[in-house]
Amino acid sequence: MSPITINAQRLWDDLMTLARFTEPNTPGWTRRFPSTAYQQGRQWLQAQMEAEGLTTHIDAAGNLFGRREGRENLPPIHVGSHTDTVMGGGRFDGALGVLGAFEAVRTLREDNLSLRHPLVVADYISEEATDYAVACMGSLAMCTDHFRAEWLERTVGGVTLRQAIIDMGGQPDKLGQPLVRPGEIAASLELHIEQGPVLEARGVKLAAVSGIVGIHRALLELQGKANHAGATPMDLRHDALAAAARMISAIEEIARAHPGTVGTVGKLEVQPNQGNVIAGAVTMMAEMRSLNMQEVDGMWAEFMTIAQKVCAERGITVQIFNETRMDSVIPPQWLHELVGHVCQRLDPHAIITPSGAGHDTSYVGLIAPAAMIFVPSLDGRSHAPEEYTAPEDLARGVQALAETIVEVDKSS
Ligand SMILES: [Zn+2]
Repeated sequence: MSPITINAQRLWDDLMTLARFTEPNTPGWTRRFPSTAYQQGRQWLQAQMEAEGLTTHIDAAGNLFGRREGRENLPPIHVGSHTDTVMGGGRFDGALGVLGAFEAVRTLREDNLSLRHPLVVADYISEEATDYAVACMGSLAMCTDHFRAEWLERTVGGVTLRQAIIDMGGQPDKLGQPLVRPGEIAASLELHIEQGPVLEARGVKLAAVSGIVGIHRALLELQGKANHAGATPMDLRHDALAAAARMISAIEEIARAHPGTVGTVGKLEVQPNQGNVIAGAVTMMAEMRSLNMQEVDGMWAEFMTIAQKVCAERGITVQIFNETRMDSVIPPQWLHELVGHVCQRLDPHAIITPSGAGHDTSYVGLIAPAAMIFVPSLDGRSHAPEEYTAPEDLARGVQALAETIVEVDKSS
């Protein structure tokens, strides 16, 4: 019997309370950075943390932390996720990781379990991508030097990113260098809904995440020549869309040939996009993901060779923009095993699975031992109002999180 018992009803009530902070006239549960609803939700969270006796702090990026001291002078264990959503999002993506961390902290106090390490509940700002910046802005700014000063001048709805960060309690002019260095966080844990169909399909309730897949992604701009679709013979065309079609097929074929990897073109813009005009230009967003970055790099090189060939054959130029290569993040063996044991204790059928989606752990894992726990998503749905995880499954996840915290405290 574990000496810890989390309060499932209180967790559910907190999730439903946070869900009420929703932007008016938006679908589902929408809390976008830096909306009033998002700010008010975080103010509510901060007040809850303070009522619990945690010391709150907002860092230069706007990340919100609530800290309880430990018995020893050690770096803290960070536990958290995010409270922003996509447009038309759900109630559990991110929110579970933050409010679950908070529930774990409360439970440990109630059960008189003091820790050696300080414990920090983290609400990383702007995890979902915005028109200002890439996804995971807060954890990126905290853990890397990838935050770009020019993002601060970007304006969305009349508000610069600089002002938006200030409005949320941050200090934008301090960004650009990591706010936390390796060694300053003992370990980081993130509980999250799976956002995929695997757990439900296998009838399991918990998964220890084996890693977050790395991504190679770029915007490719194909420049051909727009011309009359009737009057231009096939051999005199520079059809950018025909080249793009070959490239899209190539991505699918390459990814299918490498089990465990995925490849996608999810966005395409065609110019002039007229039924009787040969496409003069196409921009496409192409990406490939895997836990094995060597494999991703090889697949990307293969794709580039095909892209050059199909474009050369058609007299089309290719330019590449916004190329990003994000390494996969794999938890250290000791932490992965520890999480796996806790998950199996609470669900004998618990599995190990990679995360195909990016998370704040993608960045925190660069500076600290970091691991994730998944609970099932109904129908694998997320980023939609239908996103749902049964209350008992949420509670089991938080129970696993709380027990993991205690184990990590002993072993790091
Ligand atoms: Zn999330």
